[in-house]
Parts: sequence; C-alpha cells; structure tokens
Amino acid sequence: MLIDNHGRKINYLRLAVTDRCNLRCFYCMPEHGIDWLSRTDLMSYEEMLRITTLLIDSGISKIRITGGEPFVRKDIMTFIAALSKLSNLNELTLTTNGVLTAPHIPELKKYGVKSVNLSIDTLDRERFYAITRRDELPAVMNTLQELLSQGIAVKLNAVVMDGKNTQDILPLVALTKDMPVSVRFIEEMPFNGSGNAITSFKWDYLKILETIKQSYPLINKLPDPPYSTSYNYQIPGHKGNIGIIAAYTRSFCGTCNRIRITPQGMLKTCLYDGGVLNVRDLIRSGNTNQQVITQITHAIHHRAKDGHEAEKNSAHESMAAIGG
Ligand code: SAM
Ligand code: SF4
Repeated sequence: MLIDNHGRKINYLRLAVTDRCNLRCFYCMPEHGIDWLSRTDLMSYEEMLRITTLLIDSGISKIRITGGEPFVRKDIMTFIAALSKLSNLNELTLTTNGVLTAPHIPELKKYGVKSVNLSIDTLDRERFYAITRRDELPAVMNTLQELLSQGIAVKLNAVVMDGKNTQDILPLVALTKDMPVSVRFIEEMPFNGSGNAITSFKWDYLKILETIKQSYPLINKLPDPPYSTSYNYQIPGHKGNIGIIAAYTRSFCGTCNRIRITPQGMLKTCLYDGGVLNVRDLIRSGNTNQQVITQITHAIHHRAKDGHEAEKNSAHESMAAIGG
C-alpha cells in the first residue's frame, strides 16, 4: 500500500499519454509555437504498462488516462485494451475533449470503461471556437450522446473563466434536468503554457455556487464521496447533478489520494509540483522493478502537505503536459 508522509493513502493514478492535442484551449496551451515532445521523449506503451503494473501491485486501484488528448496518440485503444486486462485494477477511466472519441465508445465499453470525463466549457458554438480555437462543438455533443446511449457515466468538465463563459454556467446546469450527467465546474488554474499567472481570478467555487443558487435556490448539497475533489449538489427533480471543483483555491488537498505521471514519465505527487522523479529514466537506465518502486515510494514519503506548499518550488507549465 502507498501511504504518504501525511498519512494519505494513494490509490489513484492519472496517466497523461501524450502532450499533443487537436484543440488549443487558451487556458491550457498557446495557439502557436508549442514545443511538442519528441517521440523518444514520450514514454512508450511498454514503459507505461510496466509502471502501471508495478503501481497496481503497490496499491493503485484506479487509473485515469488523460493528456493532451488521449485519442490523438496512435494505437491508444491497444494500450487501453492492455490496461483493462491488468488484475486488481478496479477502475479504468479517461478524460477526453470528445472530438475523436465517438467511434471508440463501443470498444471502451467492452474494455470495462464505465465512466468518462468529457470537457465542454460552453454549449455555444461561437464561444466554443473562441475558447478552443477549433470549430468542434458538434463532434463533442455527438460524443456526449453516444456515451449516454452506451450507458457510460459522463462527467462534463467546464472550466469557468471570467469574461469567457460565465454565461454558460446556467445552460450547463440546465443540462442536468433531463440528462443523467454530472456537470462539474472547475476553477481556472494558471496552467496555460504561457508562464503567465491569471491576472484576475474572480470565479472561485463560492461565486460559482452563488450564481447557481440565484436561479436554483432549492439546490441541495449532496454528501461528498471519499477523496472527492468536488463539492456536490443536486437540483430537486433533476436527473443529473453538479460538482464544483476548487482547483485553484485548493480546499481538497487534505484527502488527496492521487499521483500523476506526465507523458515524458515525470512523477508528480501534486498537481502543483514541478515533478519529483522521472520514472521513464529509471526504467531506461536499467533499474529493476524493486529499485523503481523503492524510488517511487521514497517520493511519496516526501510529498508536499498541499498544493500551496508544492507550488513554491515549481513553474507553471501547460496543462496538456500534466494531464489535468
Ligand atoms: N484533452 C482532454 C480534455 O480536455 O478533456 C484531457 C486533458 S485536459 C488537460 C484535462 C482537463 O484539464 C480538462 O477537463 C481541462 O478542461 C482541464 N484544464 C486544462 N487546463 C486547465 C486550467 N488552466 N485550469 C483548469 N482546468 C484546466
Ligand atoms: Fe487539449 Fe484538453 Fe488542453 Fe483543451 S484542455 S487544449 S482539449 S489538452
């Protein structure tokens, strides 16, 4: 079992399989001039499989595939199929922008993927283009419909950005009336790849909640599941529910059960740290499984208390190179 130096059990791995993406969400990466990782910098599927197997043997029971956009990496379904065969992996899930996802949904279901996080910051086609710099909202909506028709649970991720999509909060909430989805509003974090901090952070979780409450005063607080990063709510009579993720305010660090591995193999024990150990390099330099897991355990035993402490020694990168 992996337990950190603050007594938190680590059982959840977020694995970013690529830094590349077919969208250019402005809060995640610049439109031009991106320095993509070379093929040799990326962890190979064999390397990722070795690391995930080791981590599962040590107590990881949930893996989320993320990126960049997972579906732009060649042969991703073969990798997902291989992961689905690992025993003791209780939950295999992924986060996607939904542009290339729809044709893979029956296969995802076959491999036991029971829930998918789909990113959608607006239901308006022009605003979608303004935010992502691509005209792909219809493809994303099609993915949403396909996921629901295949009975895969859907969480919709919407980053709330001052001056960009706050008028979308209520239409996204309204989706929960007839759709059994969980709409999750995420505070914007300073990971846009430009190195610049957010100049005006106005939309914290309290302001998001207040905005929803003004239209839905009867909104109920739901109990938050263990390790939940979201505050959860439901509007009476609605099929779906609502989550608000205080990703920037960082009120959930005390129960954090997750680690991240970036596309180039950097282990992050906090979203806000700059990476604490390169597991790809450990593998490539011939370390045994025991040596690799010893180093990972050591890193977990030196974990920052929270995101504020972790942030002190790190620069902000693009979220596509972290995985969200
Ligand atoms: N490409 C996939 C997608 O967009 O769903 C997976 C990777 S993306 C980096 C994972 C999640 O991080 C998405 O839901 C995205 O909205 C969120 N994200 C990216 N940059 C962010 C930022 N600066 N602040 C808050 N959330 C962010
Ligand atoms: Fe791509 Fe996801 Fe980043 Fe948007 S948030 S640019 S879809 S990796």
